[in-house]
Amino acid sequence: MFTKLFRKKTPPKQFRVPILCYHAMNVHGTDYEQNDHTALDRDITLIKSLGFTIKSLSWIVDAYRREDWTALNHPVIAISFDDAPDIEAYSYCDLRFNEMVESFHSIIARHHVPATSFLIASEAARTQIAQHGAPEPPNLYSSDWWNNTKDTLLDLANHSWDHNHEHVSPVAQKEQTKGNFFAIDNEADAIAQITTAHNHLKAATKDRVKPLFCYPYGHVNEYLRDNFFAMRPDLHEMHAAFSTAGEHFTENHSIWAIPRYVCGHHWRSTAELEEILTQ
Ligand SMILES: [Zn+2]
Repeated sequence: MFTKLFRKKTPPKQFRVPILCYHAMNVHGTDYEQNDHTALDRDITLIKSLGFTIKSLSWIVDAYRREDWTALNHPVIAISFDDAPDIEAYSYCDLRFNEMVESFHSIIARHHVPATSFLIASEAARTQIAQHGAPEPPNLYSSDWWNNTKDTLLDLANHSWDHNHEHVSPVAQKEQTKGNFFAIDNEADAIAQITTAHNHLKAATKDRVKPLFCYPYGHVNEYLRDNFFAMRPDLHEMHAAFSTAGEHFTENHSIWAIPRYVCGHHWRSTAELEEILTQ
């Protein structure tokens, strides 16, 4: 007797996923190059026209964690927002050019696409960062919109306790070395900046916050990537961490340093974004 065995072929671990990052505070005019809101709106139209499906960061990380390389091998892309100022959530009239600036959340709702917003947990830190900004655009970082948001297109995630921001005092860094995230290179500071922030955000968002972290300033250090995140799951609940390395996320990257492209830095027009997405 002769039995033929059919074995399902496992797809190779091979994928290329672009992930984009926008900052709502980047409003220096109304043109694309001066305004991340204008850019986001035009970019979504471009992304759709190129045949990409926009997925949430959670969707991408979950596919990676269950090793679903087939899902990641489709033309998928994700959008993220950093720092979460109020003008990410609320449209406003900018008095410098007397024009309405549509909020990021209104733009994604109009296009019906998902995005992820990275939040700074500490109220005191957000207040100090806001006090340091110019009056225009409205420079507020309240938690009002994310405490009670029912926006199903928007995921919330962790952008540290206080960003180790140069305008915050004191910061959760043992020697008060601030203005960069490379200084978060030890267990106590990592717990304060990442674990405490996540626990606070879980309570503040009624468990809506996702276990995703993005490095302030895009600064990735070896301690956080290879030790704290990779080796010490007993110290945190994160599933992935994002940098701003300006590359596609591929099988060669650590899940603890997933690269993103930053609007205004890695591309400054729809033509430049199209070049990145079709390379
Ligand atoms: Zn930031």
